[in-house]
Amino acid sequence: MRKVVCPGSFDPVTNGHLDIVGRAAALFDEVTIVVAINQSKAGLFSVEERLELLAEVTHHWANVRLDSFEGLLVDYCRDRGIPAIVKGLRAVSDFDYELQMAQMNRQLAGVETLFVPTSATYSYLSSSLLKEVAAHGGDVAGLVPDVVALRLRERLAGG
Ligand code: ADP
Repeated sequence: MRKVVCPGSFDPVTNGHLDIVGRAAALFDEVTIVVAINQSKAGLFSVEERLELLAEVTHHWANVRLDSFEGLLVDYCRDRGIPAIVKGLRAVSDFDYELQMAQMNRQLAGVETLFVPTSATYSYLSSSLLKEVAAHGGDVAGLVPDVVALRLRERLAGG
C-alpha cells in the first residue's frame, strides 16, 4: 500500500490545502493529513478545531485520514512505515525552505518529499493571508469551504 503524509498547520484548512490533498489522494492509496502541534504558536483555532474542520471537508475522500503530531515529522513517518511526504509548492519563495527541509528529512530518515505545484487559482493563498483578509472584513468565499468561512466569521466575531 502506497502511503503518504500531508503535513501542515491547517489553521484553518483552505481550498489550496484541499487541492493538494485531493491530488495526492488520487495518486496514493492512503493520505494522512497531519496537523503539526506547535506549543509555542497558539493559532486562531485549536488543533482539535482544525481537525474537526478537516474532518468535515475531507470525509468524501475514502482514503484520507487525519492525525496530529508533535515532534519530528520523520519520526511520525518512520513509526508508521510511511515513506513519503507530499507538500504543495506555491511560489519560488516556498522553494528554498522546502528544499532544505526535504533534504534534511531524507538525510535523517530516508523519508522522501514529493512536491505538487499549486493550482494557479490558489498560488497566492495561505492560511495567514486568509486570516488577515477575514479579520479586515474581506470576502473569503472561494478561498475556503463554506463551513470554514462560517467558523472564521464566528471566531473573528469572538465565538
Ligand atoms: P499555510 O499556513 O502557509 O497555508 P500550512 O502549514 O498550513 O501553511 O501548509 C501545509 C501545506 O500545504 C504546505 O505544504 C503548503 O505548501 C501547502 N499549501 C498551503 N497553501 C497552499 C496553496 N494555496 N497551494 C498549494 N499548497 C498549499
